[in-house]
Order: sequence, then structure tokens, then C-alpha cells
Amino acid sequence: MMNEMLFPAPPPVLADIAGRSKKFPVRRVFCVGRNYAEHAREMGRDPDREPPFFFTKWAETVVGAGTAIAYPAETRNFHYEGELVVAMGKHGRNLEPERALEHVFGYAAGLDMTRRDLQLDARAQGRPWDVGKNVEQSSPLGLIHPASECGHVHSGAIRLSVNGAIKQQADVRDLIWSVPEVIAFLSKYYALEPGDLIFTGTPAGVGPVLPGDEIRVHIDGLTDLVVTVGPACT
Ligand code: MN
Repeated sequence: MMNEMLFPAPPPVLADIAGRSKKFPVRRVFCVGRNYAEHAREMGRDPDREPPFFFTKWAETVVGAGTAIAYPAETRNFHYEGELVVAMGKHGRNLEPERALEHVFGYAAGLDMTRRDLQLDARAQGRPWDVGKNVEQSSPLGLIHPASECGHVHSGAIRLSVNGAIKQQADVRDLIWSVPEVIAFLSKYYALEPGDLIFTGTPAGVGPVLPGDEIRVHIDGLTDLVVTVGPACT
């Protein structure tokens, strides 16, 4: 018998792959907090080598390059966070850092857009970050570049500009926890699956955007991600 549905199931979230017509179906979105020392300091925390911590977002927060993302409700301080994103291609649990990259499909430039005022309120009160972080259209993702063609991203400039003015500038090698280390840690807590995305954290220089602003994220070796901030959502 058919599994007849009460209403249509949501369509899969599909990300674009550089140079390929096949799409990358997004499964889950994991994000690393405070993974660049200067950013930890600007958020009022001491950077250290305490184990990385993670938060999650719904897959449907992912939107493609060129999107005009709606300025979200209930915030007066909507922030950009430019990030290197790892796209997982294989199942894996309890991975060793030495083998972790074998599970990576590719890399993309991404944005972890944040209702900073709500995130900081939640943080101050010891509450979850969900309303600050897990926001509709808050995970813009550029083209995914397959590691099989472009190699793994260990270093290179990461740069974010708003309306052409550079706001964030760092090197991927400045990550406190490298990509293999992040994957190894995360895989202790979750069986990682093909389609999972890992946003690896943002450098210093986070700040607000307003409707009409254009945000560009550049990471050496990857396609730039460009989005605009649309009008407030109603
Ligand atoms: Mn982030």
C-alpha cells in the first residue's frame, strides 16, 4: 500500500556543485562556535584549546548564492559570519583525524547569518541559541567544490566584504580546530552522513547588515558566495 501523505512532504534541500549538474542533497547543518582566536576575543571569550562546541540548524536554512535573504523578524542586529563549509560525502562515526578527510565530499564558502541580539540574550541567560542562530535563510551556501578535483582546504585567505568594504580577513590555517579535528570531534557525538554540512566557524570582524546590503565571502580556491539582504520579512 502506498504511504499516502496528508500534505506534500517538503522538497529536499539541494545545493549546487561546481562543474556538475548533479545536486548535493543537504541532510543536516552543524556549526562550530568560536573557532578563530580573534573572533573568540571579540565575543568576550578567551580562546583556548577546550574541545570545540557545536550547534545545529535546519537543512532548510540553506539557500544558494544570489539569494536575497529576508531581513528576519525580531532582531535589530542581524550579523554576517563568513565561514568555510565542509560538505560530507560518506557515513562515519568515531573518526580519527588522520582518516577524517576521506569522508569529505567538498568545500564551499558559506554564511552563518545570526540574530546577534537574540543569540547574546540567550547566551547571557544560559539558554539555547536556537532563535539567534536557527533562522530561516540564515545559511547561504556557495558552490560546493569537490575535494576529488580541487583538493582539501587547509589554508588560504578567507575574506568577507559588505558592499565592497572588507570586514573579515583571516587565513583558514588560523582555525583553532582544523577541519579534520572538527570532523573527528563531531563524529564522536553523531554518526555523520552524506549530505551533512559543517560550518567551521567565523574569523573576527563580525557585524551587522541592513536591507539592501551585498555580502561577499571569498575563500581562496572556491567560488565566491554573494548574497543580498532583502527587505524585512513580513
Ligand atoms: Mn558561525
